[in-house]
Amino acid sequence: VAGDSVDDTEVVDIEVDRTHHVRVVWSDGLAASFALEELRKNCPCAECRARREQGQPAWRANLLAPPLAVTQAELVGAWGISFTWSDGHATGIFAWDALRRWHDERGADEPS
Ligand SMILES: [Zn+2]
Repeated sequence: VAGDSVDDTEVVDIEVDRTHHVRVVWSDGLAASFALEELRKNCPCAECRARREQGQPAWRANLLAPPLAVTQAELVGAWGISFTWSDGHATGIFAWDALRRWHDERGADEPS
């Protein structure tokens, strides 16, 4: 392994199922799936963070509205991904290392 490699793992595969989940695979073989509702509730943007700090959910399921979906997904440099949600929200950027930490903290939910 040569010189200036970063000490962390890289994302090698991303699968966006616009109505169900986002699956991320890292270069060390770890794969993690994140349900869309889980991602939306944990949106890292300032607005959603402020809501959570006030004890409010960043997003709430609305039984009268169509199910949550991703209308657009866009890579942000090499470090993350941003989504445009079916509810119109689009400001959060999900960093790969944050998703990885999150996956580690919640425990594996996928056989490896
Ligand atoms: Zn947000």
